[in-house]
Formats: sequence, C-alpha cells, structure tokens
Amino acid sequence: MCGIFGYIGKRSDAADIVFEGIKTLEYRGYDSWGVAALSKNNIFVQKQIGKIGDATLHTPPLSSLAIAHTRWATHGGVTKENAHPHLDCTKSVAIIHNGIIENYDTLKKQLHGTHIYTSETDSEVAAHLIEEHIKTLPFSEAVRQTFLACSGSNALVAIHQKTNEIVAVRNGSPLVVGYGDNEQFIASDAAGLLPYTKNVHFLEDNEMAILTQNSIEIIDVQTKAKKKIVPTVLTWTRAATNKAGFATYMEKELHEQPDIMLNISLETTNATSLTKAIREARGTYLIGCGSAYYACLAGTYFFSTIAKRHINATVASEFTYQEDFINDKSLVIALSQSGETMDLIDAVKRAKAKGARIASVVNVEGSTLWRLSDLPVSCNAGPEMAVASTKDLTAKLTHLIALSYSLADKKDEGIMILKNASLETRRIISNQNVIAQLATQFVKKEHIFIVGRGLSYPAAMEIAMKIKEISYIHAEGLAAGELKHGTLALVEKGTPCIVLAPHDETYGANIAAAMELKARGAIIIGISHTKHEVFDHYIEVKDCGPATIIPTIVVGQLLALKITIEKGLDPDKPRNLAKSVTVK
Ligand code: GLU
Repeated sequence: MCGIFGYIGKRSDAADIVFEGIKTLEYRGYDSWGVAALSKNNIFVQKQIGKIGDATLHTPPLSSLAIAHTRWATHGGVTKENAHPHLDCTKSVAIIHNGIIENYDTLKKQLHGTHIYTSETDSEVAAHLIEEHIKTLPFSEAVRQTFLACSGSNALVAIHQKTNEIVAVRNGSPLVVGYGDNEQFIASDAAGLLPYTKNVHFLEDNEMAILTQNSIEIIDVQTKAKKKIVPTVLTWTRAATNKAGFATYMEKELHEQPDIMLNISLETTNATSLTKAIREARGTYLIGCGSAYYACLAGTYFFSTIAKRHINATVASEFTYQEDFINDKSLVIALSQSGETMDLIDAVKRAKAKGARIASVVNVEGSTLWRLSDLPVSCNAGPEMAVASTKDLTAKLTHLIALSYSLADKKDEGIMILKNASLETRRIISNQNVIAQLATQFVKKEHIFIVGRGLSYPAAMEIAMKIKEISYIHAEGLAAGELKHGTLALVEKGTPCIVLAPHDETYGANIAAAMELKARGAIIIGISHTKHEVFDHYIEVKDCGPATIIPTIVVGQLLALKITIEKGLDPDKPRNLAKSVTVK
C-alpha cells in the first residue's frame, strides 16, 4: 500500500525529487515517510511520522541518487523508527519495502552474526540480509539473493553506499520504471512519474531492475536471464494530477464526473468487443473490491433489466472461495481503479489459471490487472488521487450501462440516457445548497441509514461507504426490504435515514420503507424525482432511467464530503485507509 519513489541521474537534487515524488503518491499510505539520499559515499536519511503533505525536507545534501517511501504500517506501530528507509548495521545499505515479508521471523533467526534491529518492521530484515550477502557478492546479486529468501508479496528497492545504482525487484506489489535522458526513476505508481517522464516499463512479478544514470537492466530474479524493456507511454497529463484550484482532490474529482460520463458514452469500440466476449461466454462473473464491488452489483441489475441477461457479482476477496465452477468458457470481468488490488489480482490469476477469459474495466492503463487481462477496457477517468473513489466509480457505472445497452442492441438509447444522467449530475454539482445545509445537521450524528431497492440498493451501499470512510460516521446501506429483518431495531427518534426513491418499479416500496422508518421517529431524507409528504428533507434527482443511480450516488458523495469538511477532517486522506490496497 505504500508509496515508493526513486531517482538516479544527472540532477543534483535527488532528495527533493523523491520527496516531491512521494508527495504525489501519498494516497497510497500516509502514516509516516522517509527519504534516503546518497551523498559523498554516505547515506543521508530523514524520517518522520504523520502526513507528508505539509512536511519539509531539512537541508538535504546534494545528491544524484535517492529513494523515498510513504508507509502504511503492517508490522510495528506508526513510529519514526518503523518508518522506511531502513539501514543495515553498517549504515551502508538502505531499503524501502512494500508488502509483507511473511517469513521475516525465520529469516532473522537464520541470519549469521549479531545484527542490531532498530525497528519492529518485517522490512528491516532485508537490509541485514543484504549486509550479509554483500560480504561476498556484488550489490545487485546480494539484493537478488535477499529477495529470493523472502516469502509473501513484496516490492523491494535498495541502494548501497558505494554502488551507484538502484536495485528494485517485485513479486505481487507494483513497481514501474520510468526512463528519461540520463536519468531513471522507480515508483510504485506511474502517476508520480508524470512530471519527469511518460516513458515507462511496468515491472512484472519476479522482475528485477538495476538502474544507473545511463542504463536500465531488467532480469528475471529467479534465473538471472536478461529481459527486454517493454516500452509503455503514459497517456495521462501532468496537469491531471493537480488539484486544479479545488481545496481537495475529492472535490476536483467529483466535479470532473459529468464530462467523464459524456466521453465514455460516446466511446463504443470497447463496449463492442466486451459485448462480443459476453455473448460468447458461458457464465460471466463481475468481481471487484469496495466501491468497485458496488459497481459490479449495480451491473447485475443493468444486465438483467436492460439486456435481460444474468451475470454474477462477487466481492473479489471471496471469489477465490467459490470459483470451482470456473472453466475455459467463463468470462471474468474485473473492476478496479488501480489495477493492483491484491485480492482482486489473486482472484484473476486463479481464474486465468483455470482457463477463464479475463476482461477488466480499470483506470490505470498498464497496471497489473491491465496486463493480466485478455480484454482490458480503460475507465478513462484520469488519475484519481483522493482515497475515496468518486469519478472512477461513476465511470465504471457508465461503462456497465453502455455495455448493457450494447448487449440489448440499443446503443443509441444508452447514449441518450447517459447524456441525460451527465446533465443531471452537472445540475446537482452546481446546486449544492440543500446538501450543504443537511450536512450541518448530520455532523453530530452517530448513525445514518440509507435504504433502497433494485438499483438503489448498490447505490445505498456506496453512499454509506462514502459517509463512513471520510466522515467516520457509522453509515449502513441496505436493501429496503431487509430493514424489518434487523436494522429497524436501531432506528429511534432523530435517526437520519436516507431513502432512495427513484422513478422506477421500486418507488412504492421505497416510500413504504420511509413510512415505516418515520413511524419509529426517523428523520427522512428523500432522494427522489418528486417530493413526498413522508420526506422531512428532499433532494431532487431527475429521472434518467437506469442511469439515475449515477446522480443519486453523486448526491451521496457531496453529502459525505460536506459532512467531512464540516467536521474539519481531510476528505482526501481518511485515517487507516490507503488508495491502492496491495496487501491482504
Ligand atoms: N510491512 C512493511 C511495514 O510495516 C511495509 C508496509 C508498507 O507497504 O507500507 O513497514
């Protein structure tokens, strides 16, 4: 989950470069950070706990080789000592690490000599292993041997006091090499490279990169066989990673949604090839984690109502336990923002091994999921920097709606509906007053319930997720029909309940749920195409057919954002969470 950034090259401000690099990758983990820079055969290290956003690097030395890390702690608390980089006993090796070295304990016991550990992390053992190996081996070989000894999913980047190179190796955790004119970069995420280069090579599992100022060597970590660079040119622009005048990334990304929806609805080639794949398959399975899973669930409703087809949706981390039926006629459509989520990648690899065809709707082109897919479809949402997903989710919903209409041979109808939904989303984003007023009333609440039937069920869960993850108010989204099976017991006088009641066949039943909640003292916030007397507060979302789910979710995003700002919290970096979930 951590952010990794490394630089070697012609410039002399390497420490500042990597420091700025991890700032752009902070969404990957932000409990602490650290930099190691090589200067006059010494390794300068600075580490600090807390977010990097407001931090400054204190007088770094001139250097043309540096690495940096933002941590998302797995082993050991959030302390300065546990922050990366970690050094060996002689202070001549520095490492940064992403993932979990599962056998770190055994490795510690196996290490010869007396090693002094300064952290509680699993990672530090790698520095000491390199320290041992380097007594007899060249640096890159010492790193290779070290990596081979580590089990689990890991990315390791190491530097040595007397060797002008960065050695980076991965298995399971992402790493991308960027290359420029007399300078090379390594990063956990391509977005961080945009200020410097768009030319990259995504490291595959078990690939090791040895970077010097003028060269990149890629080898297979097991066999040492030399491998070729597979050049990829990034399509995102540097400007796309700025806040564009907004106070937070989440606000900026939320505002981008109407335009993203329009671009997708007009792009039909991807939908065409996926449509064909679905028609050919015997069994289609949508899998995703978090918000992407809610998009999968919404997909089952789109496919059923629009295309009259059954499609399965499963949380990716659970798919692994119910995949015995997968075979070479199956189609797995994996939905992801980063394309690196470990649970999803695991599920995809297992399905692929059983012969399934893999399609994906993924925001990061070139990511691990992208490369694993037989049919990768770009989400086209541009870089999403806020931890809470907004535009990536609505882009996925847009894709799934377009796909369903394409399957039903009603592409034009799909385009029209998505155009209306885009207009309605724009209208909602530019009329936020009612939502802002409501937010002030929610600030002190402990629980919020969100209910709906049909497509409003995944919408309710997504809205609950947004409220939970950034405002820390307990929110539960559920199928309105389930209320009476338990949750109603928690409703008392003054409990805010959001009822989603769009203009579809669920309207009457949703209003009935609102009545039942109100009878128990709930405050009802109705999100609907029309006012109803049961609503204490009303937010209008005009009918856009099945695509009404998108502006409805956008109301939820705005509500979550406003509550969060009202509470004085940072919506971009919710506590305990990180954007790219690359550990289990
Ligand atoms: N397991 C390591 C630690 O706890 C790395 C965590 C990360 O990927 O940020 O320090």
